[in-house]
Amino acid sequence: MSIALNADEQDLQLAVRRYLDTKIAPLVAEHEERREFPWEVLAGLYEFGYVRGMVAAEHGGDELSAMMQAVLMEEAGRCWGSLRTTVNVQGMVAMLLSRSGTPEQRGTFLDPMLAGARFGWFALTESEAGSDAGALTTTAQRVGDRFVLKGRKIYITNALGSDFGILVARHLDADGTDLGVSAFLVEAAESPYGVSEIAHMPVRSTSSCELVFDGTEIPAANLLGEPGSGFRQAMAAVNIGRLNMAMGAVGLSQACLEAAVRFSKERRQFGKSIAEFQLIQQMVVDIAVGTQTARLLGYDAARALDAGADARYECSMAKYYCGETAGRSATLALQVHGGAGLMEEFPVERYFRDAREATIPEGTSQIQVLQMGRQLLGVSALR
Ligand SMILES: Cc1cc2nc3c(=O)[nH]c(=O)nc-3n(C[C@H](O)[C@H](O)[C@H](O)COP(=O)(O)OP(=O)(O)OC[C@H]3O[C@@H](n4cnc5c(N)ncnc54)[C@H](O)[C@@H]3O)c2cc1C
Repeated sequence: MSIALNADEQDLQLAVRRYLDTKIAPLVAEHEERREFPWEVLAGLYEFGYVRGMVAAEHGGDELSAMMQAVLMEEAGRCWGSLRTTVNVQGMVAMLLSRSGTPEQRGTFLDPMLAGARFGWFALTESEAGSDAGALTTTAQRVGDRFVLKGRKIYITNALGSDFGILVARHLDADGTDLGVSAFLVEAAESPYGVSEIAHMPVRSTSSCELVFDGTEIPAANLLGEPGSGFRQAMAAVNIGRLNMAMGAVGLSQACLEAAVRFSKERRQFGKSIAEFQLIQQMVVDIAVGTQTARLLGYDAARALDAGADARYECSMAKYYCGETAGRSATLALQVHGGAGLMEEFPVERYFRDAREATIPEGTSQIQVLQMGRQLLGVSALR
């Protein structure tokens, strides 16, 4: 328990950790093996502020502080990477609906989401537009009272399992005039689109999908926010997503630390516990120092957001450091386990795979460095 947290934040951390340890942790191994997510558990988690915390109180949300949300993400990451990824995406979709949705859109999509009855995807990335998201080519052209969608998205989390989503696309007027990048709500049932799973390494209980829009039609009323505001909406969500991912990575590092301590006390070689070897102690302490440093950077970014700062620099720093630290923590924890670390019966095998995710979505480590470099040096190395 960190003294950087106040009493309410500590209470939340204890309560959610207890719940995740008893109700969710027992589900992990079975669902990872089947590559399925237990969607029915989410409504219970929303009671703690997951997803609802990102939504304004006037729209039925809990409107939690960034610090409270950081605590929730840290605990989700300590328990299960697939859970952390899932609540992160659901929270981003709910937040965008709360910030930009019309009352009708909130009634159709947000209200049932907050009740755990609907789930959404968020699609920005394309095969030629990853880090360079502004290069996206998917279009939504106005035709009468509809938009016609054309293009492909890749790596879209949980598009299988969700019944609607937010598509970020180039907005074309009826005569083909480019109005900029906008966000659009797409319902799977009324506007069928192609969706297929892309086999992937980490967070195995999530799906990572390709979406194909080949003339898919959506009602004109499904434009989310102002024309041309899609990229701005996406970037606002990505900034919070960065902090969420950073704190999930801190939780994962914490899980690596706990696993390494537990295993090194149990495992005996050369007639004694391996915890007695100095080189094992070095690895365990390195995980602990990295985890605590990462945690404080994440908490600092959350406090900056709560103080009203735009905190892009702090969120980038947290995403960069916490993500890279999770990879190092998982590598060291696996090494402490020896051969057992590569066997699926020990959780470090999963931590190692999931840690690879921490440095890529929501802006790779390299992109975070370039964002911070631009702020420090006043010149952009991105283009
Ligand atoms: C598990 C997972 C879930 C995801 N979920 C979603 C989702 O739900 N919705 C969504 O829209 N997207 C999602 N993504 C996509 C994710 O946001 C992108 O993968 C990420 O932005 C990187 O884009 P890319 O994969 O195309 O890599 P690229 O941009 O092609 O990068 C390749 C390499 O080049 C480096 N690089 C790129 N540009 C520069 C530069 N200017 N200078 C230096 N180095 C550079 C990168 O750091 C990286 O090392 C997900 C990805 C993963 C892996």
